[in-house]
This record gives sequence, C-alpha cells and structure tokens, in this order.
Amino acid sequence: MARLFVSDVHLDAGRAAATGQFLEFLATEARGAHALYILGDLFEAWVGDDDREPANDEVCRALRALAATGVACFALHGNRDFLLGAGFCERSGCHLLPDPVIAQLEGERVLLTHGDALCTGDHAYQELRSVVRSPGWQRRFLALPRSSRELLADEARAGSRRHTARTVPYVMDVNPAAVTAAFRAARVRRMIHGHTHRPGVHDGTLDGAPVQRIVLGAWYEQGSYLRFERGSYQLRELPR
Ligand code: MN
Repeated sequence: MARLFVSDVHLDAGRAAATGQFLEFLATEARGAHALYILGDLFEAWVGDDDREPANDEVCRALRALAATGVACFALHGNRDFLLGAGFCERSGCHLLPDPVIAQLEGERVLLTHGDALCTGDHAYQELRSVVRSPGWQRRFLALPRSSRELLADEARAGSRRHTARTVPYVMDVNPAAVTAAFRAARVRRMIHGHTHRPGVHDGTLDGAPVQRIVLGAWYEQGSYLRFERGSYQLRELPR
C-alpha cells in the first residue's frame, strides 16, 4: 500500500482553492493509502490548539475522518505551525512526529524533516527559530489571549514576507553542508523534506555511495505530493 507525503499546504482562510483541493486530496488519493505524512506547514498559521480558524477546523475534521478509515496520519511541525500540540492531534487524528525523524519505509531508514533547519545560510531566520522553538517562549506565547496571539501571528507573517523579499534566493534554499551533515548524522541514504517550495529529486554521492534528497512542493498554485509504493517514489502535481 502506498505512503503519501505532503508539506507546505499553507492552509489559510484566504486560500479557499487550496483548502478545497487539499480536502479533495484527503477524500480521494489519500483514501486507501497505508499512511499520510505531513512534513510541516500544513497551516499558514496555528496560534495554539485553541485555534478557531474555520478552514483549519474543517481540515482537522477531514484528517480525522481519513484516520478513521485506517490511514495512519503523521504530522511534523513547520515554521508556520510549530505550535501544533496534543489538542491538534485529538482534533485531527494525526500523530505528531519530532523533526527530524527517521521512518522505516519498506525496510529502508529514511530521514523526514520539514527542511527549515537545513537552511543554515539564513542566519536571521535561524536566530528567530531558536527563540520561538524554546519551551519558555512558547509557554509565554500560549499564555496570551487568543486575540493577541492572532495579532502577533499576523505581524510575524508580514515580517516573514519582508524578510523573504529582501533575502537572496540561494540563502533561502538548503545549505549543502547542512544536508551532508544531516545524511551523516542520521546514517541514511535518503531524505524527504519540504519548506523551500522547490520540488525535485536530487541524486548525489556521499562517501562513495549514492544519496537522494526528495523535496516536496508547496500548494500555492497547484497540489503537490510524493507517492511511495513498492520501492518507487513519484513526485506528482495536482493541477488546479
Ligand atoms: Mn516552511
């Protein structure tokens, strides 16, 4: 049975077409799969498990319905939805996995990660990441009223757009040395990640043996997923 991988769906109330397409994906392609892995940034924003965005809630309910049919659903934190917690798991039927994590896929150990930690050339972002991923910061943030958190999330998104607009593209891609280090640390020959919105399959060599890095696409203009079945990986586009 197939395993499916998606990332960077960036679901948002303002992107009804993407939401509709993802719901359709959950109701069709994903039915009958062995497992669905969501490698981060399912949501454009998640201010805490008391998030009340109706589009987010609809997707949680659809994931729960999919999980109820027997599809194992897994999620990793992205840089937008790193506050997904136990309440999200309850609402969606998803299991949260640490980032990075090693999955056994038909007997092969494969590294799964969102991908933002590999973009080490973006020093400003890495600094921000270490702040917002600290338990102390998250505790203080989650203690704020939801309306304040929503406001702060809006400001953070505007800041992120300004940062992206003035940062040269290669800085926002993965750093080759960080990729090599991740392969070596995990002792794997294959990794799957998203975040960079640059879908592709990159074959290389490391220490004399082949390695492969599969990058998932974003869902801004079309759907995108990776299908793995019987040893074969296929990166697919879903036209909108
Ligand atoms: Mn991301």
